[in-house]
Amino acid sequence: MLKAYKILKKYFGYTSFKEGQEPIIKNILEGHDTLGIMPTGGGKSICYQIPALIFEGITIVVSPLISLMQDQVDTLNTLGISSIYINSTLKPKEMKTVYMEISNGDHKIIYVTPERFENSEFIDRIRMEKISQIAIDEAHCISQWGHDFRRSYLNVPNFIKQLPNKPIITAFTATATPKVREDIIKNLKFKPNVFINGFDRKNLKFTTIKGVNSLSYIKKYLKEHSDEGGIIYASTRKEVDSIYTELADRGYKVGKYHAGMSDIQRQQNQDDFINDRLSLMVATNAFGMGIDKSNVRFVIHSNLPKDLESYYQEAGRAGRDGLDAHCILIFNPKDIQTQIFFINNNQFESSEETMNIKREKLSAMVNYCHTSKCVRSYILEYFGDEKIDSCNNCSNCLDDGEVEDITIEVQKILSCVYRTEQRFGINMIVGVLGGSKNKSILNWNLDRSSTYGLLSDYSQKEIRALIDLLIGDEYLDVTKTEFPTLKLTKKAFEFIKNKEKLTRRVTKIQRKTTYEWEGSFDLLRKLRADIAKVEKKPPYTIFSDKTLHEMARYLPTDYEGMLDINGVGEKKYERYGTQFLEVIKEIKGDTSPIEIKEIIKKDPKPKKSSTKDSSHRISYQLFLEGKSITEIATERKSKFDTILNHLFKCIDEKLEVDLSKIVDDGNKRLILSAIKKIGGTTLRPIKDELPDNIEYYEIKTVLKELKSKE
Ligand SMILES: [Zn+2]
Repeated sequence: MLKAYKILKKYFGYTSFKEGQEPIIKNILEGHDTLGIMPTGGGKSICYQIPALIFEGITIVVSPLISLMQDQVDTLNTLGISSIYINSTLKPKEMKTVYMEISNGDHKIIYVTPERFENSEFIDRIRMEKISQIAIDEAHCISQWGHDFRRSYLNVPNFIKQLPNKPIITAFTATATPKVREDIIKNLKFKPNVFINGFDRKNLKFTTIKGVNSLSYIKKYLKEHSDEGGIIYASTRKEVDSIYTELADRGYKVGKYHAGMSDIQRQQNQDDFINDRLSLMVATNAFGMGIDKSNVRFVIHSNLPKDLESYYQEAGRAGRDGLDAHCILIFNPKDIQTQIFFINNNQFESSEETMNIKREKLSAMVNYCHTSKCVRSYILEYFGDEKIDSCNNCSNCLDDGEVEDITIEVQKILSCVYRTEQRFGINMIVGVLGGSKNKSILNWNLDRSSTYGLLSDYSQKEIRALIDLLIGDEYLDVTKTEFPTLKLTKKAFEFIKNKEKLTRRVTKIQRKTTYEWEGSFDLLRKLRADIAKVEKKPPYTIFSDKTLHEMARYLPTDYEGMLDINGVGEKKYERYGTQFLEVIKEIKGDTSPIEIKEIIKKDPKPKKSSTKDSSHRISYQLFLEGKSITEIATERKSKFDTILNHLFKCIDEKLEVDLSKIVDDGNKRLILSAIKKIGGTTLRPIKDELPDNIEYYEIKTVLKELKSKE
């Protein structure tokens, strides 16, 4: 495992594994077949990539999508890991070169589509190589019970049988209900050790919203989150088009994606979104497979998805960088009809059995929208994960909505349906309540109804949303006749009779959290965008948002400090380090030259297996022993700033750091009054306000103390 840690730091820039990765890697390194079930964003690729680098010979990765493998190979090559893909996009000449490079031993990792195993040239060529591992990504594609069954995956076990030496077989997926799990094992014909990592993605906040008009909600949400990127899913092309037009008209940088567009258009929009040229994407569920964009901050479902598998997968495209992200589902009962229509009219799978499975799944999805318990626990239970009571990060647990009394509105609606003798459908009722002069309303003399115009203060959309809420909560029923009409249910009569009250929870749209280091983050992000443009690759493959956040927060000024940032490995440092250091120095007003390190000759520091003895904790230990920052820096051959940041990191980890050893009380008082006078947290104006003998690091320390007490 020591080797694995070395590789983790050297290539990927991390000092510790994410939850669940270590036991899987250990198991693979010990030579056991492995099935790993990990949530999206849980870092499953590292689980086979690190063993691939340790094993002799090559690792073949079976991946379902060409776009996905191209991204992966780009990312690996950026990290300094030589890899390549073989798929139908290669021309015969390129293919020849690829095979040559493979037999020269140039590549450790080779990505292929499952269709490749039907190609005899490929099989003949590759059999000659030493294959140490076959990793099957998105392994649920091999199961008919999964939601993306791909027949060609069934070729994989036949191929393995033909190999002279049996390689280690590893399979990974993010979605596997127990049924799918069994299927994967059966179809791959292997006996793996199974690792199930919780499906929970703690950084995702789940919100379900009812009784609102989707489009108005989306517009409101975007107003509060204008500088964030996200995906908006809708279930039909028509809806995608209409949301897209509304947003584009308002000047948002938005793209759209659905099956009615040409391949070129779709590809272009997808690229623009991945490369941050577009911040919003409105799409049907055709969009997203193979999108590995890490900084999606929200996913809004404007319609009900067909099942929880799809929902969790689509919503799970938010927050892959581990930073907070928001998943919002807007529920309108009319969407149930749309989904039922899709199930009943699918030409490809029309057997009664599959239709029933789909209906069952849909009803679980609808129940998700109605549940009053923790919605995260609902999802986790559905996937057979451990039970939790509450998560404190979903709309039902947080209860952060405003409660709005809608008793009077509801009385008016129910009364309108009743007074018009329960003979009309939603459109007519909306028209009557809103006081519409529509011809059919006049034809039926409905403008003379006692309930005509009762809700004329509301827009048609708002009235409709209220009626949808009443249908969802079963106060109103829609007949399944040729002309569906609204009927009052028993519940509605009881509501009127008992003079009950009805409220709806309007989830407050929260402003995004702002951080003191946001300004620095923006500057670093700008640099990243510039580099991405030149290198023609997605910005997040250079550094993730999470890495930039950390950089902005600690503002490292040298090689050592930079390597302490999660996500900065040596290769990345070599490539981009100096450019980022320059910007950081500018931010700090530091004019000293950047020290150029000979990185290549340098062995990675022996890496620690737990945070207990990680670099900042070592500094902390020395600080506790009474050493000054300067002494620690000398002893550790590091910089003053780096050690200071180590201590700040410890404060973030809630460790006791006696800051009076860094800034004496006199200076602290002066700094505090300067901060009060200037306001804000930008160092330079505060420094200008103070006597010359007070140093930047002292101001930083006082600011840190203030922040930690908030
Ligand atoms: Zn919850």
